[in-house]
Amino acid sequence: MTATKPEVAQETFDSLDPATDEVVGTYPVHTPDQVKASVEQARAAAEWWASLGFAGRGDRLRRWAALVAQRMDELCAVVQRETGKPHGDAQLEVVLAIEHIAWAARHAPKVLGRKRRSAGLLLSNHTASVEYVPLGVVGVIGPWNYPVYTPLGSITYALAAGNAVVFKPSEYTPGVGKWLVDTFAEVVPERPVFQLVTGFGATGAALVSAGVDKIAFTGSTATGKKIMAAAAETLTPVVIEAGGKDVLIVDSDANLDAAAEAAVWGAFSNSGQTCIGVERVYVQESVYQPFVDKVVELTRKVEPGRQYGPITMPAQLDVIRRHIADALARGGRALTGGEVGERYVQPTVLVDVPEDSQAVTEETFGPTMTVAKVRTIDEAVEKANATRYGLGSTVFSKRNGTRIAARLKAGMTSVNAPFSFAGIGSLPFGGVGDSGFGRIHGPEGLREFARPKAVARQLFPSPVQLTTFARTE
Ligand code: NAD
Repeated sequence: MTATKPEVAQETFDSLDPATDEVVGTYPVHTPDQVKASVEQARAAAEWWASLGFAGRGDRLRRWAALVAQRMDELCAVVQRETGKPHGDAQLEVVLAIEHIAWAARHAPKVLGRKRRSAGLLLSNHTASVEYVPLGVVGVIGPWNYPVYTPLGSITYALAAGNAVVFKPSEYTPGVGKWLVDTFAEVVPERPVFQLVTGFGATGAALVSAGVDKIAFTGSTATGKKIMAAAAETLTPVVIEAGGKDVLIVDSDANLDAAAEAAVWGAFSNSGQTCIGVERVYVQESVYQPFVDKVVELTRKVEPGRQYGPITMPAQLDVIRRHIADALARGGRALTGGEVGERYVQPTVLVDVPEDSQAVTEETFGPTMTVAKVRTIDEAVEKANATRYGLGSTVFSKRNGTRIAARLKAGMTSVNAPFSFAGIGSLPFGGVGDSGFGRIHGPEGLREFARPKAVARQLFPSPVQLTTFARTE
């Protein structure tokens, strides 16, 4: 089926439409030497890109954002062909990505530009300043589930900070990667500042060891661990944005209609193939039954084709099938859905699922949610935190939303709305534990792709003898 891993070395591979298996495009499998050559070209371009300064780079990034917005339908069509996602899901990720390009372009000067610091009493004859200088070349390795929004969360921030970028998109979505690199070259035709390498995991591994100054990886926890181990060989720093098992907590005073809508959209949009997708729901017992009834009613209305598509990566169907079967075999019940077909999975609401079953402990990455009753919010928080992941989370509570949010072991929490943190440019995005470390987006995301440079400048000789060598007058 789609972009299967090659048994033997091959020169090209096809990306396929997951709904039909039709070939969407054919792309080169870049060899380690070709990847190295791309990094060298990017390095030669990096100095020129950095020399444009914040204003010059910001101007180009804004022009790129405008071009992406103008040609949004074209980009959505490529995304839809390669992932199978409905138009609404494709459009949402493109719109959010544009917001991030604009945010990074606008805020880079303020966040990264030179700032005075206090020189203190002892060295009051000095000025002190810090500025954030580009790293050089950043390697970005991306997943297929949000092939625009996710890699651009690193790419645009790295570019705005003055770096060149070599991008290895997922083997399932090379056409999306090519579209992004080609449109960027329309607004930056002078030098190959943003380059594409395509292929499977081996091409990604080659990028990790190609002498880049940082790797920004988004994908599974298992691959993240391999990348970190490989990067350790050359002390190449990494940002790891990995998997999740996000929770939604419903307090007794929550707006139940809004909470049910958020749970259904959070679990089933993009066919559940969302790193911050809602996979576990804990509901305070006094509102459990009405909440579950609303969720089931809404889920039954979720339409194939318009609201969910095929599962993009065939191997994921086995994981989803295994998690549902395990839950049912251990006393769980599917209140709706439960069918895993050859390409599509029905949106599935599972209840009475033991806490140690796979559907609760492992990332399912499909359109399923488990809903469980809790006596207290303390119990909900304890269960929410009993995971090795910690990416996003959602809380519905009228009075205690922010307080509950503070107790959750997760990089991000949305209160009374489903994952709104992902669309706010100023907020850092990232996780804890098996969800990874480092941050993209926001000021933290800009600084992730820059090096702090400290400068202390002496204005006049110090009245205090600071060195151990006598002054020669
Ligand atoms: P994946 O780990 O299989 O692949 C991700 C990328 O890594 C691909 O480009 C792949 O070719 C490359 N790769 C594979 N092996 C490699 C190696 N040894 N060295 C270097 N690169 C290698 O993940 P996927 O299936 O594409 O994406 C789904 C996963 O991504 C899910 O777990 C999801 O939760 C996660 N994800 C996380 C975020 C986040 O921001 N935290 C966002 C989106 C997706």
